[in-house]
Amino acid sequence: MLSKPLGFVKDELEALKRDGLYNAIRTLEGPQGPWVTINGQAMLNFCSNNYLGLAADPRLKQAAQEAIEKYGVGPGAVRSIAGTMTLHQKLEEALARFKKAPAVISFQSGFAANLAVIPALVGKGDTIYSDSLNHASIIDGCRLSRAEIKVYDHCDMESLEERLKEPAAGRKLIITDGVFSMDGDIAPLPESVELAEKYGAITMVDDAHGEGVLGTNGRGIVDHFGLHGRVDVEVGTLSKALGVVGGYVAGAPELIEYLAQRGRPFLFSSAVTPADVAAAIAAVEILDSDDQLVQKLWANARYFKSHIKELGFDIGRSETPITPVMIGEAAAAGEFSRRLFAEKVFAQSIGYPTVPRGKARIRVMVSASHSREDLDYGIVAFEKVGKEMGLI
Ligand SMILES: *Cc1c(COP(=O)(O)O)cnc(C)c1O
Repeated sequence: MLSKPLGFVKDELEALKRDGLYNAIRTLEGPQGPWVTINGQAMLNFCSNNYLGLAADPRLKQAAQEAIEKYGVGPGAVRSIAGTMTLHQKLEEALARFKKAPAVISFQSGFAANLAVIPALVGKGDTIYSDSLNHASIIDGCRLSRAEIKVYDHCDMESLEERLKEPAAGRKLIITDGVFSMDGDIAPLPESVELAEKYGAITMVDDAHGEGVLGTNGRGIVDHFGLHGRVDVEVGTLSKALGVVGGYVAGAPELIEYLAQRGRPFLFSSAVTPADVAAAIAAVEILDSDDQLVQKLWANARYFKSHIKELGFDIGRSETPITPVMIGEAAAAGEFSRRLFAEKVFAQSIGYPTVPRGKARIRVMVSASHSREDLDYGIVAFEKVGKEMGLI
């Protein structure tokens, strides 16, 4: 029973259900992969950020098992008190090499990395310039910093420059997602770096959906644009293309040293486990040595996107494997997703507040591990449901 002061929670839940915004979370009865098992039924998986299919890769599983034997299961406490394991340092060195960055510090998640780095760099009296569609963890990191937040129009460099021209005391920090998670478009990073250089701002990019996807061997957006050495702060995650869990910041050695002294999630929350770290190292080694998975991901994305467009669906401004199939109202997107589910296709609808009202969509995440037959199966289901609902 809810106490009286907590009674509003029930009203909020009812309002979400009434507005078609309630998210019924599905339970998977096995590993992540191109197909997953839900209610005992194999379902085509179009939901995960496991871009390269590494989440259940035998090489990662073996690395994790060996790490458990050697290092146990837990880190003991926060690294600054209990000491840090060689394994975490090895991951940071591997990531720095892979990203061609001078140094790296790892965190528990990409979310934690943003909460660590933004308040460490700016505070009261400073100014942040933030893309209007930046990820929730960037927004929260910005708010936590108590710096003034100036939001510029999405990927609009004129809008960014207008904000930069406004009077501002203190430090300046420009922050953008590399690849935008809901639309799959790529930030105009070279232009924003030039503006940062012109106005003396720190540059930061969150490459969560870029690594393992963009650049040679999936090195990410900085590599994609050849901007090595010109982006001050790169945030990354180990939970998407790399298939495990964890986050990190890449940058100058002094920045990394500073974050180990001032990044609050580093100082007050324990590190990811040895098994996670070892699996992530294995993932980085696979990417470093072979671009086959990245190539397969792009081939699959091109195939799926071209067929979906031919059917008459609008996929917005996607330039990456993230494929938003635009539906409109949240309730219709929810209905579309439920009908796909009946066709054994697991593809989540995404509505307000994750995307603006009226811009609800089915976000399709294809992966390198899908076969052509898998993609065809999904395309047929989209055609059937689209016609049933009168959308194509
Ligand atoms: C997914 C995502 C994160 C969060 O990463 P986790 O490691 O899952 O916490 C942060 N930033 C962006 C842009 C993301 O897309």
